[in-house]
Amino acid sequence: MTVLISPTLAQQAPDPLKKSVQETIDARYSAMTNLSDQIWAFEEIAFQEFKSSAALSAYAEELGFKVTRGVGEIPTAFVAEYGSGSPIIGIMGEFDGLPGLSQNKVPYKSPLHEDAPGHGCGHNMFGVASLSAAGAIKDLIAEGKLKGTIRFYGTPAEEKFFGKLWMIRAGLMDDVDIMMDWHPGDETETDVQKGLALVDFIVEFKGQAAHASGDPWNGRSASDALELYTSGINYYREHVKPTVRMHYHIQDGGQVVNVVPDYSRLWVRVRDTSREGLMPVWKQVEKMAEGAAIMANVSHEVTLVSGVHEILVNRTGSAYMQKNLEALGPITYTAEEQEFAKKIQEATGKPQIGIVSVIKPMKETLEHSMGGSTDVGDVSWVVPTIRMSGTTAPNGTPWHSWAVVASGGMSIGHKGMGYAAKALAMTMVDLYQNETLRNEIKAEFKEKKGDYVYKGIIPDGPPPLKAGY
Ligand SMILES: [Zn+2]
Repeated sequence: MTVLISPTLAQQAPDPLKKSVQETIDARYSAMTNLSDQIWAFEEIAFQEFKSSAALSAYAEELGFKVTRGVGEIPTAFVAEYGSGSPIIGIMGEFDGLPGLSQNKVPYKSPLHEDAPGHGCGHNMFGVASLSAAGAIKDLIAEGKLKGTIRFYGTPAEEKFFGKLWMIRAGLMDDVDIMMDWHPGDETETDVQKGLALVDFIVEFKGQAAHASGDPWNGRSASDALELYTSGINYYREHVKPTVRMHYHIQDGGQVVNVVPDYSRLWVRVRDTSREGLMPVWKQVEKMAEGAAIMANVSHEVTLVSGVHEILVNRTGSAYMQKNLEALGPITYTAEEQEFAKKIQEATGKPQIGIVSVIKPMKETLEHSMGGSTDVGDVSWVVPTIRMSGTTAPNGTPWHSWAVVASGGMSIGHKGMGYAAKALAMTMVDLYQNETLRNEIKAEFKEKKGDYVYKGIIPDGPPPLKAGY
């Protein structure tokens, strides 16, 4: 039997440049871990990442990049660029945390600062690894060993408002040939799943306050409307496809028990595995707010926050990422790190297997993959995007939890960050060296995108920097 090897896979870039990017990243490892630990300790959330953005962009300048801050009408967004001409390869880095997840670097729940945010999604490592990969490529361009432009995107507010949407709207990614991305995780793999499209909107009900017992007949309750509305959403769950997810967060349900509440507010999120499936569900859930308002005799208002597309997976580019992960092989851990991992697994009710670090074959791209959502989805409809996941926490770690914060602040997270930087840089070496590969990646993108004209799900006007929700 003849085994056919893809011609582009056979023409991988020569190893010396890949070795060189690995050495650069090794040489900068302590600078990287310091920066990651700083961002970890800043504990900043969406659109408030002022110190984290300042630290990352300062490091970009130190590495020799030209930095433009405050792009896309977002003070904490920035672009760092080096080189000139074609190809333009982009790489994205996030750096926002999550509310309420502050945590010490210990394998049991122990807040560093009570009620403060924490890096429960590992974004303290995300931006640093991507920028470091860009830095290694920058050096090769400076030495004349690669030709073109490298551009790092500092992308804020992934966790709440999806900052990339405004960066796309500003046209910042229009000229990019191929975009790179990674995410911290509990496994190392080429990420070829689509995730979910979603939309976020705020529903407010406004009624009339009155004494809850003295003259309730004068009251019109905004909290009645809220209860009727959430009941409607929960009944509706039975009549949507299994791929749909609906969530709500009650942000204001009244203040005290002896007042008929004249105001209530909730954040509503609807998801599906594709934007097309999402649209009718979104419209229905919005419409139901009107029904609840009629029943409670109050007024209502719906305000769009933002929404994201599912990811347009590029398997041609992903195959190269996979080759580079296989070339790097699994991460090795010390006995202390394995002990730390087992304690995390014990504390979170998972099998105490330590960190199993293997590079599995690239998975099939599922038609309906479940899981989370990301504004990387939108980027992937504008420019072909290649993604990976790097191990920064023990297998099975509940995500968006204290355990991710703990692992991301110590050597388990640091190792995954360094590893991701290498894999991303090695794959970018392939992209710069191989024009045929770039064209194949673009051809797959074009074919999958078809005649869809991308339009971001965001309201007109500036991003909600001070929206109060
Ligand atoms: Zn994340």
